[in-house]
Amino acid sequence: MNTVYLLLGSNMGDSEQMLTVATIMIKKNIGKLITASSIYRTAAWGNEDQPDFLNQIIIISSSLSSITVLNEIFAIEKEMGRVRTIKNAARVIDIDILFFNDEIISTENLTVPHSQIQNRKFVLVPLVEMAPNLQHPVLKKSSLELLNICSDKLIVQKN
Ligand code: AMP
Repeated sequence: MNTVYLLLGSNMGDSEQMLTVATIMIKKNIGKLITASSIYRTAAWGNEDQPDFLNQIIIISSSLSSITVLNEIFAIEKEMGRVRTIKNAARVIDIDILFFNDEIISTENLTVPHSQIQNRKFVLVPLVEMAPNLQHPVLKKSSLELLNICSDKLIVQKN
């Protein structure tokens, strides 16, 4: 079984409901839910005149390969009606693979650990809530250490 950390994000429609629906679809199509973080609210990254984002991390146990997980994520995002428009546009649901076991994956379509973990407080804050001692396999630092040195200024609050 693979342990997969997924970051869910939404800032369109009823965002809390979107996180719930995404989790139901992930449980159906990807694997068993191990645990979920609190939901956090953050000002939109890179485009401040948008609604706030809600983010949550869920940990899944899955028998699927990393690329199959990515394809299932694309299918869920599509089914939930995300329209890919401009970069950083408002979105019904965004699902990213943060970690896949402690594997390091670098292909055209998939970079794991996700390349932005260390730069974004809306990732690091829920990650520290769930797994403060989790070691980043590339940066060789724990989640807590990464949060302590992260220079992201956006305020991340429990929803
Ligand atoms: P986004 O706009 O964040 O949904 O980016 C989606 C794009 O990032 C897709 O083309 C994916 O193939 C690519 N991608 C690379 N690494 C990852 C990852 N760890 N999780 C999700 N998407 C990824």
